[in-house]
Amino acid sequence: GQCTAHCPVGALYEKDETPAVWQALQDPKKHKVVQIAPAVRVAVGEAFGLEPGTILTKKIYSVLKRLGFDAVFDTNFGADMTIMEEASEFVERFVHKKGPIPLITTCCPAWVDYLEKYYPDMIPHFSTAKSPHEMVGALTKTYYAEKKGLKACDVYGVSIMPCTAKKYEISRSEEMKASGCQDIDVVLTTREFTRMIKSSGIDFLNLPDSDPDHILGDYTGAGVIFGATGGVMEAALRTAYYFITGKELGKVDLEETRGLEGIKKATIDIQGTKVNIAVAHGLANVQYVLEEVKSALAAGKEPPYHFIEVMACRGGCVGGGGQPYGATDEIRAKRARGIYQDDKQSEIRCSHQNPMVQQLYKEYLGKPLSKKSHELLHTHYHERPLYNR
Ligand code: SF4
Repeated sequence: GQCTAHCPVGALYEKDETPAVWQALQDPKKHKVVQIAPAVRVAVGEAFGLEPGTILTKKIYSVLKRLGFDAVFDTNFGADMTIMEEASEFVERFVHKKGPIPLITTCCPAWVDYLEKYYPDMIPHFSTAKSPHEMVGALTKTYYAEKKGLKACDVYGVSIMPCTAKKYEISRSEEMKASGCQDIDVVLTTREFTRMIKSSGIDFLNLPDSDPDHILGDYTGAGVIFGATGGVMEAALRTAYYFITGKELGKVDLEETRGLEGIKKATIDIQGTKVNIAVAHGLANVQYVLEEVKSALAAGKEPPYHFIEVMACRGGCVGGGGQPYGATDEIRAKRARGIYQDDKQSEIRCSHQNPMVQQLYKEYLGKPLSKKSHELLHTHYHERPLYNR
């Protein structure tokens, strides 16, 4: 468990929110929308006697439809969107020198909470891109609601997450209400979700497969690897490479960022330019990397890295605090294997190639980092006192 006595977000005390979701599902005035995070699909099966890492995405879509959700989306679509925005931020800073390097990822809310309390001086280094499920939430209550002729506040958004910290993230600031009301209404953990499936009496494992709803449900292999440590970095580099060179990467697998080593470092060659990256998971490792950066900057030296991925949980979200209890490294590795298998099997493996992402920019957002993208898909960070949020 990543949630020690120092757990920054009170995640030790999981609040059961299934009653609120059951109630919403009975409410005909609400349009119920749900999304699942990448790491959920490779862990739900464990509660039904399957091996960790078994990919159940299409059965999860089916059970969510049977439970009465009006639309079933996927956080992986949001992950593709996060990559579009974050890779663009990286290019802005690294190539065009508009903003400080290293750029540090921020899709983990336990990490964001920690940085606001312990590293507020590093705030300019953080990506302002919202986390994937918040992006899907904001787009559901704006773009999707407008298309459907629905009022934002009549849409009820549920996120099924491997994470207890996400419960706090949905109300962390006014920016989580880009649509005018809270963009995600409730976060359920993988454990709460499996309890819902079990109490529904639905024969989950024997359900036929289904597809997600368009367009906020269609994802690429880059979107799904967000669930494992190193995945965000790998996905971002696939797209940053294209943004910088105008060419597609020949080999998209980036083995250097994978696996359970606490800090992974690599130098990536983008057409003769060296990009130094670091991937840290588990807060002790994160602290180590940040101190390296801080001391280089304080000494007036070049920082050792240009781009850093951070996840609070060991193994990344596959080892999250909302996953089935009792994760070991063996279980984390098996879940991660499921994630990389899903990527490998995907026809499209880079976020910028997702046709639905392209359509969304064309129809609605313009381009990454546009005014509208900033309004809906970005956030800001503020120093927070240690004991009084
Ligand atoms: Fe949540 Fe852990 Fe993933 Fe961070 S790494 S988003 S705390 S599950």
